Amino acid sequence: MQPDYLIVGAGFSGAVCARELADAGKTVHVIDKRPHIAGNAYDELDAHGVLIHTYGPHIFHTNSKKVFEWLSRFTDWRFYEHRVLAVVEGKHYPIPINRTTINSLYGLNLSEEEVAPWLEKARQPRDPIKTSEDVVLNSVGPDLCDKFFRGYTRKQWGLDLSELSAGVAARIPTRTNDDDRYFGDTFQFMPAQGYTEMFRRMLDHPNIKVELGVDYFAVRDRLKGGHTIYSGPIDAFFGYQHGKLPYRSLRFDHEHLADVSQYQPVGTVNYPNDHDYTRITEFKHLSGQQHAGTSIVREYPQAEGDPYYPVPRPENEALYKRYAEMAEATPGVTFVGRLAQYRYYNMDQVVAAALKAAEDLIKRPA
Ligand code: FAD
Ligand code: UDP
Repeated sequence: MQPDYLIVGAGFSGAVCARELADAGKTVHVIDKRPHIAGNAYDELDAHGVLIHTYGPHIFHTNSKKVFEWLSRFTDWRFYEHRVLAVVEGKHYPIPINRTTINSLYGLNLSEEEVAPWLEKARQPRDPIKTSEDVVLNSVGPDLCDKFFRGYTRKQWGLDLSELSAGVAARIPTRTNDDDRYFGDTFQFMPAQGYTEMFRRMLDHPNIKVELGVDYFAVRDRLKGGHTIYSGPIDAFFGYQHGKLPYRSLRFDHEHLADVSQYQPVGTVNYPNDHDYTRITEFKHLSGQQHAGTSIVREYPQAEGDPYYPVPRPENEALYKRYAEMAEATPGVTFVGRLAQYRYYNMDQVVAAALKAAEDLIKRPA
């Protein structure tokens, strides 16, 4: 029998919608072209038994109690606050920039109260704040911008800070105290048994059927009736009719070091100005796993390849809007997620968007 919903993508968008609809008594068929569930949050044991994130480091953080509680139905949590160091001229400094970063970089001994006036002198006030360059210059000024942001951004996006919308660099705060956590959110935890296990439980429901290794575009001509929830790239759905939406890609270079128990002092080390990769993540910090060796990943940004990041800038927003209008005018299909909504969403934001999409569908008159 035909299911009530076909869901394209078994990542956060698809899996959260699937579970909500199934709990509401609907039948759901989830397909994903990859051979596994969990989308980009997929984790697995590598050949050496270390839990790794195949598609780069995923750290869960949210201020939404609703999202946290919803996911808590499917996982236990391990408390984890992510810390990141950036290597500048051969030395490690906390990023986001905080009191320690400024004092150690410039050989100062500023108190917390003295950091704000110091930054006031260093910064270049910008008004209006439109680009990521405006954000960084406005908060820390040109020297810190060049040391920590300009090179990293050029590598990550293939663009200058001035070519990206403000929201990209605004993800990284500036602090006057010694707080060296990467995120400031209320809830900062990792799924204790991993993301894939959390997804397995989410999708484990008699109303949900999951089929992997199936490309939607290979089967869509055969679909009859029912409602589709699509979480792939929106431009692909419409056959690139208005041209390709830029998505930034990455190559992940995973490495296991059998004789090293700890490779680096924190979960992630950023390399804003050296190397072709942006950062190295050591997974044991994230998972708390005990293992004699360790596994790391280097991220090499790429123009071509699997779509990982929407590229937030005005012309891309404008192109996305044209596709979004087509989506509005397409009955029987709901577009949800980072690729389908072309938004630089974190995991918790995708969960919130998917919960809302499912709620709207459940409320709709049949
Ligand atoms: P996806 O996870 O991309 O899932 C979409 C699924 O649809 C994919 O599995 C894909 O195979 C499938 N699909 C696409 N097209 C088709 C098709 N034609 N047919 C069948 N299936 C199809 N967020 C955080 O909160 N914290 C982090 O630390 C963090 N780190 C990240 C690091 C990296 C390197 C990246 C790339 C992202 C990171 N994110 C992080 C963001 C997070 O990955 C996303 O918010 C989340 O995974 C998006 O879920 P989604 O379901 O929308 O998309
Ligand atoms: N960024 C930077 N230097 C850093 C860290 C971040 O310039 O050391 C900028 C860069 O443009 C990056 C953006 O801030 O793409 C967002 O960083 P985040 O760590 O949130 O990126 P993600 O984890 O999503 O790749």
